[in-house]
Parts: sequence; structure tokens; C-alpha cells
Amino acid sequence: MTFATPHADSPSPQRLPVVIVGAGPAGLTLGNILRAASVDCLVLEAETREFIEQRPRAGVLEEWAVRGLERRGLADVLLERAQRHTECEFRFDNRRHRLAYHELTGHHHFVCPQPLLVTDLVREYADARGGAIRFGVRDVQLHGLDSDHPAVSYTDPGTGRRELVRCEFVAGCDGARGVTRTVLPKSARIARQDYGVGWLALLAEAPPSSDCVVFGIHPCGFAGHMARSPEVTRYYLQCPPGDDPEDWPHDRVWAELQERLGADDRPPLTEGRLIEKRVLDMHNHVVEPMVFGRLFLAGDAAHLTAPIAAKGMNLALHDAFLLGDGLVEYLTKGEPAGLNGYSEACLARVWDYQEFSQWLSEVYHGASSGDAHRAGTTLARLRRLFASPSAAVAFAEQYLGTGPMP
Ligand code: FAD
Repeated sequence: MTFATPHADSPSPQRLPVVIVGAGPAGLTLGNILRAASVDCLVLEAETREFIEQRPRAGVLEEWAVRGLERRGLADVLLERAQRHTECEFRFDNRRHRLAYHELTGHHHFVCPQPLLVTDLVREYADARGGAIRFGVRDVQLHGLDSDHPAVSYTDPGTGRRELVRCEFVAGCDGARGVTRTVLPKSARIARQDYGVGWLALLAEAPPSSDCVVFGIHPCGFAGHMARSPEVTRYYLQCPPGDDPEDWPHDRVWAELQERLGADDRPPLTEGRLIEKRVLDMHNHVVEPMVFGRLFLAGDAAHLTAPIAAKGMNLALHDAFLLGDGLVEYLTKGEPAGLNGYSEACLARVWDYQEFSQWLSEVYHGASSGDAHRAGTTLARLRRLFASPSAAVAFAEQYLGTGPMP
């Protein structure tokens, strides 16, 4: 493990128990948990507050995750406005097949666009709980992570000065392309999986065309429909990895969506202006363990999960709950059990969700793989879901997320 030599322009570096790198769902939830227990911390974020409050990404939260936020006083606004979803729908062979997962399990999903969750979490952390946060920081560097006295340095965007913060723990919550991934020691195991497909991720200024999430399984490729708000809908279209979004003009997008999400007994989708259009290459990676010396990874920094099963933000919250609780126990009572068990407890859920994503990927992409055998087994899986109540329950449990309540 190699680290840069600390260098600061300030004569006396700041000292804090915890520095959190990254103000996404993981970093902000963690910061809020620490502040609620009066543990001081500093959040360092490379982007501006306006940017992170508007960055569109996820939208589906699992019920346990919302209950976890609620127990930590972080879900008041969310619960007032989030829609509850109780069913999803598969469309194949031009027919609709509903899976009423609430009826099967008693549990549901919440629809909460990630920008709204992030906005709530920043407000609560910075404005209500008085948490320290620096936006727009540059060149964050980590020092001494394998010692008892790590430090984090960064360039302040206002003054241009190098600042140094000494701390006891660094939380790497800086997503899949952050700085913490770059300092992992050689002992880190990184498991990667590439699905070999791309998804054109779209946000349309159009009301949802269904009251639930819709998965279109089609020989031309997968398509997805997910409500974000009464005015905005997320759509996905499977495409070759690395495809250029410019090759997907408005008319082509809507023609493909209408075709792949079509059903004989449904009117066409309501079309609208496309306000986001980007190609995501579908791949995963998992870093094991999630702790290196005094560096604790959380969220996408530790495990990137392609949005196939809409799990990434939920896993980020799960990590933040466990890390926040563990740090509070250790820093306020000297109790190390939570921190010692952190990596193992997170990875159990991570691998469970990775396995489900892999299973679901085959359902989504098998029909268009060009391989007649894969297409045949995909249809067999789908038919089983709607013919066998126990297969439906097993699917519903994984779709909703299983595991102990954090
Ligand atoms: P991030 O949200 O990536 O936050 C990391 C933060 O660190 C960012 O603010 C970044 O600016 C900052 N940062 C990065 N580098 C540095 C640095 N060097 N210094 C300081 N700050 C830095 N998940 C679901 O659960 N459900 C869904 O429906 C879903 N849909 C998705 C749809 C799309 C199109 C995409 C792209 C993702 C989706 N996800 C979904 C995944 C979800 O968005 C992520 O898993 C989630 O954002 C992870 O949160 P995080 O806090 O770990 O990381």
C-alpha cells in the first residue's frame, strides 16, 4: 500500500475522528448517523452542492432501506412523498404478466428519485445537524491508512490552499471512480463481471405509462420502464456496449421502446422530450475485503452493481447504516464488534444481490442473445415465474431484497 506524503499549506492541521470522502447516498447517510451521535466528521465532495442535488440516477428503494433511514431520523420527507410500488410487470410475446410481490410477501418498494434523497440528506446533515462539508474539493489524497493516525489532504476550491485533516478513520464513499479505489493494497481482491451488453439510460419528460415497473423481454433487446415522478419516467433500452447516445435520436428511441414494451391490450407509451440519454456498459465489481487499515469502503466505492436489479443505492445505504453504527459504537463506547464485522456483514448482502442481478440479466438479455438455447431457457424461466407460486415468491423475495434488517 503506498500513500502520498502529506503536505499542507495550513500550519496546524485540523483533527477529527472521521473524514468521509464523497457525498453520495453512502457518505451523506454515514455523516448523518455520526452527527446524530455527536461524532465530528468532515465530508469532502468533488462536485458542487447543486450538481449532486440534481444528478439523476436511481429511484427504487427497498422497504428495509427506507425503514433503516426512518429509524435514524432520515426519512420524514421521503415518506411524505415517495410512492409505494406493490407489483411489477413482465412483457413478452406481446402480452403482459403481472407479478404482485406485495401480495406474495407483504412487502413493497418505494419510488424516490436519488436527487431528492441526496437533497434531503445534505439538508439534514449540513443545515439541521451542523455537519461539516466541503464541496468542489480537488486532488483528495489519503495518507497513513495503515497507521493509527491517517490523514486526508485536499485542495480548497476557494483559497487554492492544500488542507490537511488528521483523523482516526477514513470512509471511502466516493463511488466507482473515486480516489479511494486507487489506493487499495495489492492484497485487495477485486472480482469483476462484464455482462457484455450496454443499456441506453433515458429520462423522458413524460408521465409513466404504467402504474408499476415494466420489463420488456424482446428479441430486439431488453427495455425497461420505471416511474420517477408524475411528470418524469426512466426508460432503458439494451444496446451494444459503448454505443454512442447520438446514434439514438428521439424517433429511434421511441420506436424501439414502443416495440419492445408493446402489449396487445395496452395503448402505446406516452412519449415526451428526452432529458437524459447516456450509455451504461453493464458490469459489476466487488472489492474484498471492504476494510484496509483505517480505510473503510462503502457503497459503489466497494461494489459497483449494474442497475439491472436496481440494487446499488440500496447497498450503499446498507453499508452506511452498518459503518455508521459501528463507528459510533467504537468512538463513543470503545466497542469494536461492529467495525470488526463490517466487511463480512456488508459482503453477505452484496454477493446475494450480485447473484440475483446475474440471474435477472439472463432473463432480460437471453431472448436477444442470438443464441437459441439461451432464448429458450429465458422463456422457460419466465413461464415458471407465472406458473409456479413458489418460484414467484422466491423471485419476489430477492427483488425486494432479503437479509437482516440493519
Ligand atoms: P455515489 O452516488 O457515486 O457518490 C459518490 C460521491 O463521491 C459523488 O458525489 C462523487 O462526486 C464523489 N467523489 C468521487 N470522487 C471523489 C473524489 N476524488 N473526491 C471527493 N469526492 C469524490 N441503484 C438502486 O438502488 N436503484 C436504482 O433504481 C438504480 N438506478 C440507477 C440508474 C442509473 C442510470 C445509474 C447510473 C445508477 C443506478 N443505481 C441504482 C445505482 C446508484 O445510483 C448507485 O449505486 C449509488 O449512487 C451509490 O451511492 P454511493 O454513495 O456509493 O456513490
